[in-house]
Amino acid sequence: MLNAKLAAKSHSDHRTVVHLCERVAIGAEDVIVIGGPCAVESLEQMQQIAQTLSTSYVQALRGGVYKPRTSPYSFQGMGIDGLRVLASVRQQYGMPVVTEVMAIAQIEPVCAYADMLQVGSRNMQNFELLKALGEANKPVLLKRGLAATIEEFVMAAEYILAHGNPNVVLCERGIRSFDSYTRNVLDLGAVVALKQLTHLPVIVDPSHATGKRELIPDLARAAIACGADGLIIECHPEPEQSVSDARQALSLNAMTALVDSLAPVAAAIGRKLGSNSAKNDEKTSAEKVLLTR
Ligand code: PEP
Ligand code: MN
Repeated sequence: MLNAKLAAKSHSDHRTVVHLCERVAIGAEDVIVIGGPCAVESLEQMQQIAQTLSTSYVQALRGGVYKPRTSPYSFQGMGIDGLRVLASVRQQYGMPVVTEVMAIAQIEPVCAYADMLQVGSRNMQNFELLKALGEANKPVLLKRGLAATIEEFVMAAEYILAHGNPNVVLCERGIRSFDSYTRNVLDLGAVVALKQLTHLPVIVDPSHATGKRELIPDLARAAIACGADGLIIECHPEPEQSVSDARQALSLNAMTALVDSLAPVAAAIGRKLGSNSAKNDEKTSAEKVLLTR
């Protein structure tokens, strides 16, 4: 392993906890679930999703507004209008939001509207972007490159840490291999290794790892069982109508059923699901802070 001075674990209970807001953290005892569509498509779509997820154990919302698409002719995301949609549901439902940045110029607007900035697989080694995110004052969700080794992944995180941002969460989202039955191959061995090698929280994305909705629930439970600090999962009110990644989108019912099924798995390894106080009528003071931020 190259010298990951800042990412390396220095002792067995050395771990970083990354806060998305006062109420929601990644890497503490509670396991986090982040849910939402591949892409933000409209305010109505995000409200429908947030309405359902805010009454479940899902603690944060996802949704891409700058989309890395294989074809330049595919939907590229709603851009700034999508950020406004995220800001609106964030405020209405008191849930933090995570969205992708693909370019340095997007960091400032995304920081103004979102709680966590995602670096997608295709940009894991965009070193200029990583350096700029080191100077951002929001946490970063760094997804593993399509064919990145564990060492390359850790060193990409090191770039962000070395440039001043200590709030980095790693995300295993599957790597390329020879079998095209699944979109990618979910590398749970990497999850265990990353937890041993680094003090950073590690979450798993079983949606992009498999590309098939019927494989997601079992792999989500497996990820929690092997020590992942959380999950990021795609869902949609009308999965087949998703503008992107329709084949892997869960229905909202399937999503809440999946999340409920994680509770005994988390309990078996001495953890629990983070509670979503947004579902309580009485808002906590922490939540009011999020709402007014
Ligand atoms: C996404 O999360 O929508 C995404 C594009 O993921 P990845 O970068 O892992 O392919
Ligand atoms: Mn997607």
